[in-house]
Amino acid sequence: MTSKRDYYEILGIEKAASDTDIKSAYRKAAMKFHPDRNPDNQEAEEKFKEASEAYEILSSAEKRATYDRFGHQGLGAGAGFNDVNDIFQSFGSIFEEFFGFGGGGGGFGGGGRTRARRGADLRYDLALEFEEAVFGVEKEIEFERVAACTGCSGSGAKPGTARNRCKTCQGVGQIRRTQGFFSVATPCPACAGEGETIEHPCPTCRGRGRKKVERKMSVKVPGGVDTGLRLRVSQEGEAGSGGGPAGDLYVVLHVKDSDRFVRDGNDLVLAQQISMVQASLGAKLNIKGIDSEHSLEVPAGTQYGHRITVPGAGVPSLKGVGRGDLHVEFAVVVPRKLNREQRDLLQKFAEISGDDGAAGQSGFFQRLFD
Ligand SMILES: [Zn+2]
Ligand SMILES: [Zn+2]
Repeated sequence: MTSKRDYYEILGIEKAASDTDIKSAYRKAAMKFHPDRNPDNQEAEEKFKEASEAYEILSSAEKRATYDRFGHQGLGAGAGFNDVNDIFQSFGSIFEEFFGFGGGGGGFGGGGRTRARRGADLRYDLALEFEEAVFGVEKEIEFERVAACTGCSGSGAKPGTARNRCKTCQGVGQIRRTQGFFSVATPCPACAGEGETIEHPCPTCRGRGRKKVERKMSVKVPGGVDTGLRLRVSQEGEAGSGGGPAGDLYVVLHVKDSDRFVRDGNDLVLAQQISMVQASLGAKLNIKGIDSEHSLEVPAGTQYGHRITVPGAGVPSLKGVGRGDLHVEFAVVVPRKLNREQRDLLQKFAEISGDDGAAGQSGFFQRLFD
């Protein structure tokens, strides 16, 4: 067994050091011995591993207590790191904190760790027939979107080659400049902040890792929708980058007018013409609703604009329970032309009603139904 240095000694701290002291001591050591800052320096790498091992033990209250009581022997042979990459795997978030960049990861991992970014949301405008909106429909839609390149599985590197850590920023994705007291970070110009560069770009996507593709899919539109409503289709937007999730697709609905019905929320209004005689004497009518037939009793003396409501014959509720109503609204049609016999009869009708025929606007129906 090789002799190991004391963990407190490695980090240059007291036995009574607080968690904050331990972290800041490790930060100092990591900054100094980080392999990216000491390329091909075996000694620095060993120091980096040593400091990381010390930090791993001392940052855990349980392991630290064991170490304090029993020393290295208490921890067994498992402690320590063989590979620098294991350190990045275990402490990835610590490095982000240390070096001041957030988000989905940093280039310090030395390959395999790229910045995850969510793809953009997309909008698709979908036109629906009136009845389709009322009862729901399944629609095929087709649109263009950015997807991960199939040639390189989104990496952008030619199959068989890998992305390289950016030499300009050492994989950090940022360039730090110190100005007086302040340290200013700007995105690395060489890698556009990705932390990685591609030496051999994928020929299919020319290194972008993403490609425009046609997407065909079917969308289920529930009954009861109306113009302006947006349906969210999860993860059908543009592809994310660096392993990030895809954006969402929003299907925005536009419902065409009906030539028979006017929609009022979940209610339907149907304009039904009736003749002057039907309005006066009353009538029985068969009305075609949107998906049903109704026999309606038009009362004698029905006025223009009078409504009869058929409950539950309107638009199904989007919530899945119940339906709106159907309102049948009557429009009384006055004949444009009368033949001689009709005119004589109406003339007679006017005489009986006490109308002089010329001024008729007040008395005609009023008197009939008094
Ligand atoms: Zn590609
Ligand atoms: Zn760079």
